[in-house]
Amino acid sequence: MLDDYQKSQPIVYKILKNAITDDKCSHAYLIETGGFYDSFNFVMSFVKSLLCPLKNLNKKNCHDCHQCEVIDSGNFPEIDVISPDGLWIKKEQLQTLQKEFNTKALIGNKRVYIITQADRLNKSAANSILKFLEEPEGNIVAILITDNIYSILSTIRSRCQILRLKNSQIVDKNEPWHEKLKQIILSYKNNILEKENEENINLKITKVIEFVNYYEKYHLNTMLYMGKLWNDYIIGKEEIEIAYEIMINYYKDILNYILNKPLEIFDINNNIKEIAQKNSKEEICQKINKLVELKDLIKYNVNTNLLMDKLIISLEGVIE
Ligand SMILES: [Zn+2]
Repeated sequence: MLDDYQKSQPIVYKILKNAITDDKCSHAYLIETGGFYDSFNFVMSFVKSLLCPLKNLNKKNCHDCHQCEVIDSGNFPEIDVISPDGLWIKKEQLQTLQKEFNTKALIGNKRVYIITQADRLNKSAANSILKFLEEPEGNIVAILITDNIYSILSTIRSRCQILRLKNSQIVDKNEPWHEKLKQIILSYKNNILEKENEENINLKITKVIEFVNYYEKYHLNTMLYMGKLWNDYIIGKEEIEIAYEIMINYYKDILNYILNKPLEIFDINNNIKEIAQKNSKEEICQKINKLVELKDLIKYNVNTNLLMDKLIISLEGVIE
């Protein structure tokens, strides 16, 4: 929940936490991601904290509330997420949303709509949002997410409370699984550990795992963020090969979890549980096979960007 971001986003955390506690939320937020890799989850955790019926009883993370579980599963009827349909967010998408808001009875006390990549609102969609923002209804909260607030119409900007996330890189050097992975990396044929400093290696390992977690949530959309998720951190064939090795080990542990076996490297965490829930044993096996297959191609493949696209497409193929 929101409390998980106290360290990585101290300022925005405080603003939102106070707004929830004092029941003084804005009717519209414009959130600039600032390159923060986890910005969508951050927004969702804010929404969860905002809507959680136990928020006043249970001041910490909500572990035991049914509603938060439903929100996590993406099926909560009072939260709508709008993303570009193709290149743009279209007016029809917003009309459907507005119609829904006008006709459906409200469950709970608030209704939230989230617009991701809000800079992709086409002109008529932007105007329709503007109208929505001009006549706010008491129980509706709008959250617009963008990488750059200046690519949003100033008329929209001026009607929103602007929050800027920071590009935070918290790497816990003491993660025990980092050490185990490093043994694997060491046993690898190269001397990458000698070239890189400790902190860099921890960051890269974390980034590879984040990449898989992101892919498992957003699937093909991952391809839009390859720069931030991968290319900025995993550089050169040697690192890509190791990254594949890390991904293979990660999926192996997810398989262990599904099979009720002890994990070999990783500590059990929410991401592993979530990925295990969304995939069958067979799907995970096929994903491991794909990774092994593509890893073999790395030494021959000159264009590593194409390789990553191929990876995502073939992992997706597993699902269909
Ligand atoms: Zn809850």
